[in-house]
Amino acid sequence: MRHQLRLLRTRTAAHGAQHLQPHFYFHPVTPSGLNTVNNDLSSHSARGQVTLVGAGPGDPELLTIKALKAIQAATVLLVDDLVSEPIVALANPAARVIWVGKRGGCKSTPQSFIEKLMITAAQEGELVVRLKGGDPFLFGRGGEEVEHLQAAGVRVTVLNGITAGLAAVTSLNMPLTHRDYAHGVVFVTGHAKPGDTGTDWRALANTARQAKLTLVIYMGVTGAAHIQNELLQGLSADTPVAIIQNASLPEQRHAACLLADLAETIQREGLGSPAVIVVGDVVQGLLAVEQPLRLGRGI
Ligand code: SAH
Repeated sequence: MRHQLRLLRTRTAAHGAQHLQPHFYFHPVTPSGLNTVNNDLSSHSARGQVTLVGAGPGDPELLTIKALKAIQAATVLLVDDLVSEPIVALANPAARVIWVGKRGGCKSTPQSFIEKLMITAAQEGELVVRLKGGDPFLFGRGGEEVEHLQAAGVRVTVLNGITAGLAAVTSLNMPLTHRDYAHGVVFVTGHAKPGDTGTDWRALANTARQAKLTLVIYMGVTGAAHIQNELLQGLSADTPVAIIQNASLPEQRHAACLLADLAETIQREGLGSPAVIVVGDVVQGLLAVEQPLRLGRGI
């Protein structure tokens, strides 16, 4: 792995650019290469430091000051797909930036490879920042990365970022809780791990109704029709819903509708990932402004 990291540096210098797409370093790594990484790691003493940094929803001005300082200090940055380019541009120009998402048409880098890369770089004394969209601990696999890094004896620090669902509602002046409509909020994924049965939407809908909870659904756009049908088993058809795409970015778009119209609205408006779906009475105010005839009409 030392050899591979040196190769990375050489290529960086040769290209005169510090921003690397995964294929610059990723193609030469074979399964046997990964085994070598493991062997190398076991022979290293435990040291190194990695900071998992929440990059927020995209707008660089929503970074925390701690996140900004960590990004500027990093010598190696491993960057997820949903991190916006203006945020990566805040890094030191001499730092090595490795995109590990699907950006640029490349396949996303396997999680195990990302973890090994972080561990090796940290053990070589690099200041490693793992830059993740939103908050690292909300659907960002931050928990898995912390476990692996700690198991390898690498010290880990995690810096919060503003999660997309929070930024999305705030950008539309909607609260997530409200003393009259919502006593709490559930952040839930619409996309289960392969082999997992996924979210029990019916149970969630019943709980949300009974306990007055706002639902903030991440990664739900593709499965919106299924989610809609299941939620309708417990929530009324005229529950207000908002879909917000690219929250905090210049290209942000949104639509408001009733739960019964969710999938159709997404399709009609051409909304796509990354987007969050917000379900509950906190959306009432937005819907009243944008769809006054639909709201309260009963369907
Ligand atoms: N850790 C991230 C979530 C990663 S999961 C966070 O805390 O925000 C990826 C999902 O997050 C996307 O599919 C989408 O549902 C949501 N998402 C991320 N960035 C977004 C944005 N700018 N606008 C709307 N949704 C976003």
